[in-house]
Amino acid sequence: MTMLGLMQQQDLRISQLIEHAATHHAQVEIVSHVSDTRSYRSTWGEVRHRAKRLANALTDLGVLPGQRIATLAWNTHRHLELYFAVAGMGAVSHTVNPRLFAEQISYIINHAADEYVFFDLGFAEQLVAIAGQLPTVKGFVALCERSEMPALDLPNLLCYEDLIAQASPDFEWPQLDENTASSLCYTSGTTGNPKGVLYSHRSTVLHAWAACTVDGLGLSARDSVLLAVPMFHVNAWGIPYAAAMCGAKLVLPGPGVGGERLYEHMVKEGCTFSLGVPTVWLGFFQYIESQRAQLDLTQLKLARVVVGGSAAPRAMIEKFETLLGTYVIQAWGMTETSPLATIGNLLPAQQDLPLARRFDIQARQGRAIFGIEVGIFSPEGERLPHDGQRVGEIKVRGPWVVSAYYGDRAGAALNDEGWFSTGDVALIDTDGFVQITDRTKDVIKSGGEWISSIDLENVAVGHPKVQEAAVIGVAHSKWQERPLLIVVPKAGESLTAAEMTDFMKDRVARWWLPDDVVFVDGLPHTATGKLLKTQLREQFKGHRLSTDPI
Ligand code: AMP
Repeated sequence: MTMLGLMQQQDLRISQLIEHAATHHAQVEIVSHVSDTRSYRSTWGEVRHRAKRLANALTDLGVLPGQRIATLAWNTHRHLELYFAVAGMGAVSHTVNPRLFAEQISYIINHAADEYVFFDLGFAEQLVAIAGQLPTVKGFVALCERSEMPALDLPNLLCYEDLIAQASPDFEWPQLDENTASSLCYTSGTTGNPKGVLYSHRSTVLHAWAACTVDGLGLSARDSVLLAVPMFHVNAWGIPYAAAMCGAKLVLPGPGVGGERLYEHMVKEGCTFSLGVPTVWLGFFQYIESQRAQLDLTQLKLARVVVGGSAAPRAMIEKFETLLGTYVIQAWGMTETSPLATIGNLLPAQQDLPLARRFDIQARQGRAIFGIEVGIFSPEGERLPHDGQRVGEIKVRGPWVVSAYYGDRAGAALNDEGWFSTGDVALIDTDGFVQITDRTKDVIKSGGEWISSIDLENVAVGHPKVQEAAVIGVAHSKWQERPLLIVVPKAGESLTAAEMTDFMKDRVARWWLPDDVVFVDGLPHTATGKLLKTQLREQFKGHRLSTDPI
């Protein structure tokens, strides 16, 4: 018979995070840019104080444990207060991505059956347009002061600062079971309806712990964090919780995530750490490079940057290092994995490699962190070796990986062995570094072999005249599919197809070279900034490759 340990049995709760931050890091600043012209300086102590007032206000509004409270909001101190108040009181914070189409937003709010919607004024018009189609919503709360309240055609319109001012700051966080639901995010899939991922207090706290470990994201009280990843997408990669756990300073950029604004915040707030999707960093470097002569880059203290959500191009990793001395941590994950799953930290033997070799390693998606088990599998379900050669679909297991989508029975998203299929295709090298080569539906199948669209895109954006690139498979009578490269040149640059293939020919296998190159002014993106390949495939469905003999 096994013997039970004699340690305290304590549930893990989000309220413990804010209590810890407010007790031990009370004066650490939360700098919030409510708009491009207005900022507000708060602290972890104040976040707790106001979160408790908000929890009382929500209780007075009749919000019950388990009910969903939606937000359509930028990264601000108010959104942060909502994160802790809603989950802390036992309700569920549902962050809605305002970049989705109106029909998707109303679908999501109705599917979640949200009780209240808290919104930034910039999203007011979007809400007014759909308010009549949201039968479960009892009221709308504008995230502003009384003096800023707009006249809007919204039923039961309330003012956030009024709610806070009128409520008592005395609130006892309930002793919730750690498996209680805490937040809800919908995946912005490129096909079908969005699906809800319902996180728990336990999964959130464990995930925050992983982010704070040195071989996780190494977040600590010594960091000033510029949160350039939106709080409406996978809880801003869990950083609001992790920052509370370790007492890091947070800089919340609000609606302004253009290159110039990010640069200003970094200098002014001494940011040591930042996170964002590649598109955000493209804008950041566009600004730096265009203003190079006027900027004193030595003012930046940025030591680490996390790039994820899409593949971090090698050229971007190199630029961060050589221009700013910043180490790029590439991370891979998804809404269904909270999202951190693999993280690109170097192993001891890799520390002193020549930079070029190091960038190759950083261009991979990193190694599994403790808590996440990663495997690659053939289409027949056979587990493939981690030999850096075999390519298969990634499956994951772990305490912060989804078990079922919102509304389904627990375990419905898993196979018999408890694996969740990610839809991402990758190889894993002998050191355990994952390299994503595609989404299962984006991989290009040429003559029975697979060509990685991501690898080709990464090489293409390395060309100095290229702003952005996408590669899709186009029908070919002999090879089944061949790659078509679609390029957006940088502003003011002209580029030819021959220049592109010439640049790529020594950087990829010959048979991977795109058969055609087309130039466009812009590429379609999903609401989370990923290339919308379904639309590109539709757009170029009729494209006849110049290499096709028929
Ligand atoms: P989302 O659920 O919107 O966060 O999207 C998750 C998807 O983004 C993953 O399944 C990957 O396809 C993609 N993704 C995330 N991080 C990376 C990365 N570092 N490299 C390549 N693809 C990534």
